[in-house]
Amino acid sequence: MAGEPQADCLFCKIVSGEVPATVVRETDTTVAFRDINPQAPTHVLVIPKAHYPDAASLAAADPRATADVLREAGSVAAEEKLDETGYRVVFNTGSGAGQTVFHAHAHVLGGRGLNWPPG
Ligand code: IMP
Repeated sequence: MAGEPQADCLFCKIVSGEVPATVVRETDTTVAFRDINPQAPTHVLVIPKAHYPDAASLAAADPRATADVLREAGSVAAEEKLDETGYRVVFNTGSGAGQTVFHAHAHVLGGRGLNWPPG
């Protein structure tokens, strides 16, 4: 069923605690944890606890959880003191755009200059 945990999903295993992660924030609907391969001094992933394969399917099925992910991204940025220097929130969507884990997630990146357009 849509939103239910998937046995073969890495991020569902982080939600359940089966795979350890450095969790920085948690709410009823979201978990935020440090990326294992950081691309910036701050690189945190914010995920919905419910399983959806990407941000678009999350938004279509659960607008509230989508808003929770975005609010938590802002809270992570504030806690990491990124809101003065700026930061980026990225949803890679599809393998052609670099998505490797098919459980919706926002990357929160900051702490260094960020180029535009991204690669
Ligand atoms: P994507 O490439 O946009 O799908 O992002 C997936 C992210 O998950 C990558 O930045 C990975 O470094 C990160 N990642 C993969 N496995 C783990 C893990 O076990 N803990 C934390 N981050 C992970």
